[in-house]
Amino acid sequence: MIEDSHHKHNFHTHTFRCKHAKGDVDDYCRRALELGMETLGFSDHTALPDDRWLVARMPYAELDNYVAAIDRGRVDFPELKILKGMECEYVPAFKAFYSEELIGQYGFEFLVGASHFFLDDGEWVGTYGGTTDAASLRAYADYTVDMMRSGLFDFIAHPDLFGNCYATWDADTAACSRDILEAARDLDVGMEINALGMRKQARQKTEDPFPLYPWRPFWELAAEVDAPVIVNSDAHRPEDLQGLTGQAYALREELKLREMDIEALCARGH
Ligand SMILES: [Zn+2]
Ligand SMILES: [Zn+2]
Repeated sequence: MIEDSHHKHNFHTHTFRCKHAKGDVDDYCRRALELGMETLGFSDHTALPDDRWLVARMPYAELDNYVAAIDRGRVDFPELKILKGMECEYVPAFKAFYSEELIGQYGFEFLVGASHFFLDDGEWVGTYGGTTDAASLRAYADYTVDMMRSGLFDFIAHPDLFGNCYATWDADTAACSRDILEAARDLDVGMEINALGMRKQARQKTEDPFPLYPWRPFWELAAEVDAPVIVNSDAHRPEDLQGLTGQAYALREELKLREMDIEALCARGH
């Protein structure tokens, strides 16, 4: 029953523009309708004003085209409620870009925060392979809390992404996770159980310990802290629009995690 009752929406959907996903808005809309979904939020990796980190995102010049594709989706798929969103690294210097340009000018209905990089002593460090010791983990947690404090983001994608390279759950992972989760609760920002992480784990060889997210002790702590939670597929291919989300919902149910206000998010769609 979990499979049926919870798969009406997804708020983490990419398009080909990020260069590591397949398909465009219409392909995901068609798939969503095949699956009987009601609400689809697009959240491709954000363009940035200075075109940094271009390897995994659209260039700034392609922003109009992304917005137009979503607007066209709304016309072509009126049965679906569609939300215009973006998955964003939080670059403090670009705060006006997120709030005035994306939300203000372009009318984006939600922004996802994601710590694919984090600031460590003023330097950007990649989170894939970059959170291997206590000091980098602390920088990751502080950066992620700052991101939530910006007030720009409705939820944080894969907040336990440090599990892609941190070897064992210990006092440092627990302390950093608690800081992230308590900030999420206090600021009412959702913590995403990311089904792409589950798909990666399902694919990996058994002797390979990484990627380890969603990382179960993080979510046990989320239950204890009472942080709001959202399940998303993080689809990079139309066929993954609900890939292993059932498993992510099962974790949420098992640990009795509190769902963030999904209805409020759905209500922003058109
Ligand atoms: Zn991606
Ligand atoms: Zn994503």
